[in-house]
This record gives sequence, C-alpha cells and structure tokens, in this order.
Amino acid sequence: MTLVAAVFGGSQGIGRAVASRFIRSGFSVAILSRNNSKREEAITELEKENAYSVGIKGSQCDVTDEKIVQESLKLVEETLGPLRVVVNCAGINLDRLLVQTVPEDINSIINVNLIGSIITSKIAARLMLKHKCGNIVNIGSIVGMKGNRGQAVYAASKAGLVGLTKSLAQEIGSRGVRVNLVVPGIIQTGMTENMDIEQVKNQVPLSRIGAPEDVAEGVFFLATSPFITGEVLIIDGGLHLNR
Ligand code: NDP
Repeated sequence: MTLVAAVFGGSQGIGRAVASRFIRSGFSVAILSRNNSKREEAITELEKENAYSVGIKGSQCDVTDEKIVQESLKLVEETLGPLRVVVNCAGINLDRLLVQTVPEDINSIINVNLIGSIITSKIAARLMLKHKCGNIVNIGSIVGMKGNRGQAVYAASKAGLVGLTKSLAQEIGSRGVRVNLVVPGIIQTGMTENMDIEQVKNQVPLSRIGAPEDVAEGVFFLATSPFITGEVLIIDGGLHLNR
C-alpha cells in the first residue's frame, strides 16, 4: 500500500520541496494551500518531475479554519488512503518593529503560523490516533529560538511551535504517533526574496543560504525515523552558532 503524506503550504518554497521529497520516495502526496492556480501549477510541475507518480492531489485549504482543515484531511484519506505523514509548511511573515506593528498583522501572523499549526496538528493527531501510527512535522524558524530585530511577532509565533511539538509528542507518543519540529535558518524562497543574500551568506558558517531541498531532507528524516519524537532539528548551515 502506498504511504500518504499531506503537506500544508505545499504549493511553493519549502512545502513544495517537501512534497517532491516524499513523492520521490514513493509516497502519495496531498498539497493543501489557499491559492488554487499556484497549487495547480505546482502539481503540474511535480507530475512532470515524477513521471511515474500517480498520487499527487491538491485541495484548497486555509490552516486557520479548523472545519476546513478537518474536511480537507478527511478528503485526503478518502482519495489517497490513511495519512502517515502531515507536514505543516504554511506560514507568513510581515516583518516590522514591534512598536510599529498593527493589530491586524499581529493577528494574521499568530493565526497562520501558530494557531494554524495547532489546528493542523490537532486534526492530524486525531486521525493518526485512529490508525495507531503517524508522523507530524511542524516548521518553526531559527528566529523562534534566537529572536531577531523586526520579527518579534513572527519569532513569538514560531517559538510557540517548540512548546506545541514537545507537548503533543508526550501526549500521543504511546499511541504510535510522533511529532517533531524542523527549524530552518534562511532559505531561498519567496519569503526571503527581498533579503540581502550576500550579507546573510557571510554570517553562515557553510557560506550559503539554504535551499528548500535542504529543509525537505530534514523533514523526511524526522518523518521516517522511528525512535525520534519531540525533537527540534535546526537546519541553518550553522547560522545559529554566530548569532
Ligand atoms: P512561501 O511564502 O514560499 O510559502 C508559504 C506557503 O504557505 C505557500 O504554499 C502558501 O500558499 C501557504 N500558506 C500561507 N498561508 C496559508 C494559510 N493560511 N493556509 C494554508 N496555506 C497557507 O514560504 P516558505 O516556503 O519560505 O516558508 C515555509 C515555512 O517555513 C513557513 O512556515 C515559514 O515561516 C518557514 N520558514 C521559512 C524560512 C525561509 O527562510 N524561507 C526560514 C524559517 C522558517 P497560499 O498562499 O496559496 O495559501
């Protein structure tokens, strides 16, 4: 039987690379995101890259809406089979000094990054508890561990994922479900396109910024390593050592 993975925020950037990594290892993959055309484009590209894969599906889903997340994962199970892996890559950043941050932006960041992960983890956990196995991987950020000027709310939303991951891991480990957190540094995606890459590279011991595939490798490792749960895996080329 083909194993099934669902990737929230799988239409681009890190999520798309995660979807590709699982497809290459023979998983059927569901890609869940808000923008339909962006997601369809990603699915077409993934199908071209993986000519022999038939198990790529997509559906519209906003991680901030519990009912929609529940319906989406139910649909994934009906069309592809029991969920083995759920990865939440959906995230936004609206960087600004805290004193200048408006309430709407605070709500959006916390809703998508923190509450979205709480919702997706909860719904995924319920389904996986029924199967008595499964893996949830959340995506944090190195700024959630170290903080960063101009990213106080984003950092707070990502720091919350450490507590979420470690608590849920303890709640459901004995029932065969593992929960882990990948913490990327600076990764080349739409989210970082306005950064001064040359300046950032100088702070990274490995002298480059990350590729989405670097993060996908860590996600795949955690999702398929049978005795790891509640773990926080930093994938940042050593950036945290210098900050
Ligand atoms: P991108 O902006 O490239 O992709 C974000 C993805 O999330 C898109 O697929 C987007 O699709 C989806 N998304 C956003 N909001 C929602 C929502 N409410 N519901 C469902 N899907 C949503 O970002 P990255 O790939 O760079 O980031 C992926 C994750 O990694 C994020 O959590 C980010 O915080 C984290 N991260 C990124 C780093 C980086 O340097 N790039 C560093 C550290 C962490 P759509 O808009 O269609 O919904």
